[in-house]
Amino acid sequence: MPSYSSDFQHLLAVAAATLAPDGRVIEANAGFQRLLELCAPEVIGARATALFAQPSFATLAQLNGGDDGDIYSGPLTLGDPMKRTQSLRGRVWRVNGEIRLLAEYDVDDLDRLNQTVLELNSDYASTQRELAQANLRLRQREAEILALSLTDPLTGVGNRRRLDEALPAEVKRAERTGSKLCAFVADLDHFKRVNDVYGHEAGDAVLAAFGDCLRRHTRASDVAVRSGGEEFIVLMPHTELDDAILVADRFRASLAATRIDPITHPVTVSVGVAELGPREQGPALIRRADQALYQAKAQGRNKVIAHFSPAVPASSATAARSTTP
Ligand code: GH3
Ligand code: MG
Ligand code: MG
Repeated sequence: MPSYSSDFQHLLAVAAATLAPDGRVIEANAGFQRLLELCAPEVIGARATALFAQPSFATLAQLNGGDDGDIYSGPLTLGDPMKRTQSLRGRVWRVNGEIRLLAEYDVDDLDRLNQTVLELNSDYASTQRELAQANLRLRQREAEILALSLTDPLTGVGNRRRLDEALPAEVKRAERTGSKLCAFVADLDHFKRVNDVYGHEAGDAVLAAFGDCLRRHTRASDVAVRSGGEEFIVLMPHTELDDAILVADRFRASLAATRIDPITHPVTVSVGVAELGPREQGPALIRRADQALYQAKAQGRNKVIAHFSPAVPASSATAARSTTP
């Protein structure tokens, strides 16, 4: 004969059991066993009396005076109050003196649990989002700090460190790609006089205007730096010597035409230009541009002079080309 609880044998959301009048378990489905395991490892024969937290087993057993029929229907709190209890809703009745129970787990409990899981997930997602945003801000800040550490504060162009990083890298890139790399060195003419006549602050204003002018006449791929005092160096990747001379001369003419308050006379610059020679290293390139700058100073200033590559015979190596206003 199929037992009472066999219909519900494997159901976990429903507790079905038959208990002896003293509370021993006669038969129980998986859902009831799960409850009982909160108290006792062996199910059949175990006493389930301790399992009834609310109402208690003693209360239930007395409810209809021991007659067959309905005993109770409503909420049931089952489990071990010292460990864990479970809310169920169901019916208890008596058949041939035995007590039967059929109850389903309270789905509100599950809903509440689901809600908590959803809230935790959403908290987790928003924390993840905040973390990602904080990381982004941190990376932006790092990039800003790095850019600042490579920038000259007075003129806004790069500093010596920027040149030390860029020069070997650009030389290597030019070698690898077979493209031309030019450099020019620019030095303000008679800058000491500006300081002497107008004061150091006016001198600083000239340097700032010089930096502005340099930025306007160079491309984003060029590396413009203040290499010291009133001397600036520009690296021009992918640029032939003729084009570099043109850029340098445009910059020279533009600065000469700029009115810089409170200086009443034109502020001029001398520039030396050179193109990277075969197997030449960065410092040698800058040295040759510097030699050409020296020539420009010697020839009266406010000039651009190019230094030919070291491959050209030494007799025609310097001052081979110049632009004069
Ligand atoms: P030349 O045409 O031969 O280059 O003459 P010069 O007067 O420009 O050259 P010199 O090297 O004799 O003088 C450079 C001056 O630049 C000296 C120094 O007072 C000034 N100087 C260097 N750095 C700064 C700075 O940061 N601010 C100001 N105001 N002046 C500076
Ligand atoms: Mg100078
Ligand atoms: Mg100088």
